[in-house]
Amino acid sequence: GLGIGGLVALSLSSLGGMLLAHRTLEPTQRSYKKLKQFTADASHELRSPLTAIKFSLDVLMKHPERIHPKNTRKISAISSATDQMITLVEDLLFLARSEVAADTQDTSKETQTSIYKILQGLLTLLEPQAQSKTITFESVLIPDVTILGDEAKLTRLFSNLLDNALQYTPAGGSVKVRMEKSVKSVFITFEDTGIGIAPSQIRSVFRRLWRTDRARNRRDGGVGLGLSIAQAIAQQHNGKITVSSRIGVGSCFRVRLPLAKASVEQFEMTAIPL
Ligand code: ADP
Repeated sequence: GLGIGGLVALSLSSLGGMLLAHRTLEPTQRSYKKLKQFTADASHELRSPLTAIKFSLDVLMKHPERIHPKNTRKISAISSATDQMITLVEDLLFLARSEVAADTQDTSKETQTSIYKILQGLLTLLEPQAQSKTITFESVLIPDVTILGDEAKLTRLFSNLLDNALQYTPAGGSVKVRMEKSVKSVFITFEDTGIGIAPSQIRSVFRRLWRTDRARNRRDGGVGLGLSIAQAIAQQHNGKITVSSRIGVGSCFRVRLPLAKASVEQFEMTAIPL
């Protein structure tokens, strides 16, 4: 056998290993944290001058008579580029902040939130856009499903997925939104008949600033932060988004959100004494 000495030596050496691992990991974690903090700070700082540019442009555009006709198109190009930049900076800030917050503590405002209400609202809001593209919306929703969560963030999660479904589906297609419920979770799927994602690319869709080649060639659309943001929000709610897709057939994004974070733990706690 090892004997007491052997055991002590063994545990000391494994302790040494742990310390060593801890020491080598720490600088990496620290610089990663610094990088996230930097992204948060930088995007925050970029926001004020951008807002100032936007403000001046708005003032200028309120008085078209003061703009030389030769400059009208240039000014509207500057204005839409500024809008894009503001969206980009705000998305980066959102991601960086949620990552920094995940390290420290959660800052989201959590209340009982109706998933049904959010989806219904988004479908109504996007209906005109779908109609103008002759895309049909189909939805199977379950009323009265609420989860403990941040309503603004959850709205953003679903709106990003619905926006994508609309954007990457050609005219004449369809987008189906479906809610399902199990004992512990609610599942929300967004299924489109769009361009699809190749198997080799599907693992990258949740990466920041990542877009498929086909998407990159289009002038419309975002910069590739929408799905990273959606996934970050799902994770903040202890949930997850998964995707399946076939090129030329369509994509299906599936969100799983636990119905109540506390109820599972409560159940397990009452189960222990038995
Ligand atoms: P964005 O839409 O701004 O490019 P996202 O992060 O929302 O960024 O999506 C990343 C990429 O994933 C998109 O550029 C596109 O290539 C692909 N993608 C996302 N949703 C779909 C979809 N419903 N159908 C096909 N491709 C999609």
